Amino acid sequence: MSKCTCEYCPTIIVPGIGQSKVDLYSSDNKRIKSAWPMDIDTKALVKKIVPSAILLLLTKSDKAFCKSLKKAIGEAVTPLRVNKEGVSTENLHIVDYEGNSLKNCSADDKRYIYKMVPMEALAEVIGEDHLYFFAYNSFGQPYETAKRLNDYIQNVKKETGYDKVNLIPVSLGGSIATAYFDAYGEQGDVNRVCYFVPATNGSTLIADIFSKNLDLSNPTSLLGMFLDGKTIESLEKLLKRFHKDTAENIVGALVDALLETFLMNCPGMWAVIPREKYQEYRDKYLVGEEYNVLREKTDRFFKAQNNLRDLLIKIENQGTEFFSICGYDLPLLPFAGTKTLNSDTIVDFKSASLGGYSIGPNKELPEDYEPVYDRCQNKEHNHVSPDRTVDLGTAIFPDSTFCFKYQVHDDTAYNDVALSLCKEIITNKNFTGVYSDPRFPQFNGSRDIFRLKYRLLPRVDELLKKDLPQDIKDGILKSKEEAENLFKNTIIKDRTEADEITKRFDEIVKKADEF
Ligand SMILES: [Zn+2]
Repeated sequence: MSKCTCEYCPTIIVPGIGQSKVDLYSSDNKRIKSAWPMDIDTKALVKKIVPSAILLLLTKSDKAFCKSLKKAIGEAVTPLRVNKEGVSTENLHIVDYEGNSLKNCSADDKRYIYKMVPMEALAEVIGEDHLYFFAYNSFGQPYETAKRLNDYIQNVKKETGYDKVNLIPVSLGGSIATAYFDAYGEQGDVNRVCYFVPATNGSTLIADIFSKNLDLSNPTSLLGMFLDGKTIESLEKLLKRFHKDTAENIVGALVDALLETFLMNCPGMWAVIPREKYQEYRDKYLVGEEYNVLREKTDRFFKAQNNLRDLLIKIENQGTEFFSICGYDLPLLPFAGTKTLNSDTIVDFKSASLGGYSIGPNKELPEDYEPVYDRCQNKEHNHVSPDRTVDLGTAIFPDSTFCFKYQVHDDTAYNDVALSLCKEIITNKNFTGVYSDPRFPQFNGSRDIFRLKYRLLPRVDELLKKDLPQDIKDGILKSKEEAENLFKNTIIKDRTEADEITKRFDEIVKKADEF
């Protein structure tokens, strides 16, 4: 293969928890089904729990039912089972695209990857042969994954002829990056890191699940993290038939099944327990000799996580540049027992911003609050948000961390400005931080352009071919122009602008469809 000499070194995306596929194989190495995302046989599951459900309806006692449900769910999720040493018990194969760049992935794989991380605009600049998607088992072992990532990086370097790569660790990928930098960071293989809503100090949401500090009145968002839509639908139907307390006991049993089968034994999940909580949780849940091996693994990660500031500064001094893109000013998902934490609904703001300070979601800092100047000593800078709810002066990289107010974690993929910013960071070496380009300020708003970009704009040409009254055609063209102008403007006041354009666009398309 001919070596490329363009200015863009290859970029590797290290995806988040729901974005990497793992398949279950039989002992003679034949693919059985998907292990993650879970592929649960809902019919078989329901069949298993029906007898005790009838008993529950007759006797109103939920004990036997919860027990049988827990067992059935535990069996349904066995493909992800992890033993007490933190090792998967099943024959799992990561769907890894054979180490190919996006250019050499099949059309289906490419579609899947772009659906997970819509980085098409980045690929357009650097070329699909410079973009890689590193798949891994979300319920695996961070240091094993880091080793695979290091091998992967060496292969990409060899294949492309570059001596460095860029990394985009997304969400859970932030914890993988921690293990990677701890074990291999000093090799100097990384040019730029663009963290994208990363869990660099875990997520209190996962901590709340571990300690069952949960608000179970609305379990859908909780179950949605692990189970598939069909299973949740059946469970919801079932839960509706019971009294609130019974329904909560049932969800509690479900959580127990997930915790005992894989979550609690999984080093990858321990890696997203915030460091402030680690010791307490370790003393509570990893007690006894049977956990010696697992404790060694979780301790190793904790040490790196606890030391992350020094570790990243050391690597920065060796020439790697760090950036982060995160959301703020939202509470965690409704099922979390912790209600007053600043987050993007999934990851703590403090974790995603690598150390930013706040006192709660959308809560103003006290009037006498003194902005912190720590790693940034430039008093002409102001790293407190305009709404005075967060201070990035406490963060590891105050001059290269970008925040989007009210940005929901999963929807960041549909915030076109966050994606453009990521593209700028990866492709423009003169773009070094929050004061480099007024189009990308440190603090911005959020918007969701999914419907505009993927549902409405693609229909314009087809609609205009129809025999429509002139006023409707004009309306479509006007909406198209509004949408395109929106995309050009990277300063977001709030999400209403995009929402209103979407609404007008929807209305005119509906009219056109009626002809
Ligand atoms: Zn500064």
